[in-house]
Amino acid sequence: MMESLGMINKYRISKDSLARFTLMVRKGYRDPPYHNWLHAFSVTHFAFLLLYNLRLMEINALTHLEGLALIVSSMCHDLDHRGTTNSFQVASNSVLASLYSSEGSVMERHHLAQAMCILNTDDCNFLENLSQQEYTQFLDLMRDIILATDLAHHLRLVSELRDVAETGYDGHNPRHHELLICLLMTAADLSDQTKDWQSSKHVAELIYKEFFTQGDLEKAMGNMPLEMMDREKAFIPELQLQFLDDVAIPVYELLAKMFPGASDPYHNIQASRKNWAKLRDVYKRRKPESTSSLDIFEDDSLEEDLAKEL
Ligand SMILES: [Zn+2]
Repeated sequence: MMESLGMINKYRISKDSLARFTLMVRKGYRDPPYHNWLHAFSVTHFAFLLLYNLRLMEINALTHLEGLALIVSSMCHDLDHRGTTNSFQVASNSVLASLYSSEGSVMERHHLAQAMCILNTDDCNFLENLSQQEYTQFLDLMRDIILATDLAHHLRLVSELRDVAETGYDGHNPRHHELLICLLMTAADLSDQTKDWQSSKHVAELIYKEFFTQGDLEKAMGNMPLEMMDREKAFIPELQLQFLDDVAIPVYELLAKMFPGASDPYHNIQASRKNWAKLRDVYKRRKPESTSSLDIFEDDSLEEDLAKEL
């Protein structure tokens, strides 16, 4: 990916150092159902596709350094994730909460610290040929991008992003660059629902497995989990529809408005929304009283009924 984006040549990157860096990053991920290396890889790949297909650096929508920072941040953005959320860190008085809770975005600050640690490891700093100024700028970008993966951060930017989509993206405006990088990062992080239906559904299953494990821990601690984390209460198709409507679909809508070349993921996520709505209806007809939890993923006959729905 970095080769295709011309980054290896431009920044005289040592491929050996980059390979060691990448292996260390991979090792830095744990193995929860969703927030593992496969997630980091697919997010990085989506970020790559956005940079490459929309030719964002060629059209001067982003600088090359911003593109590089987006790729590296994508690789690192969930390092050492434990499969639990920021609010769980605070509620369980975790070590990470004691380090970072006063500043907010507890996990994101930890992912960033882990990334810095790997970058500073002997033989892993593939950016040694950057000038001092470029390197400082790169680290600032990486900090901003990884902290931007907190959805709370994204939601604070939405109205400003709408203004940019309305007036048009201006590559000469530094604030537009900052906003676009955050939007691209969020688009990459949430990209599972822009894939084909089987992939989207499979990843949703992994996410809810992770959520329900946290819900079980919360119950054991005597706390009441959120509905989406409670395996007894969660009705997954409905929760998915809410998430798509409130958070994910607007991300791809904004992106497609700013860059018409980005209309595919927007159309795909709408197709995914239709499937979740069908799945909700089919399931409700069959078992009006049940909330389903994970069994919607195990019942293949639901898929057959789904195919029959208009
Ligand atoms: Zn992520």
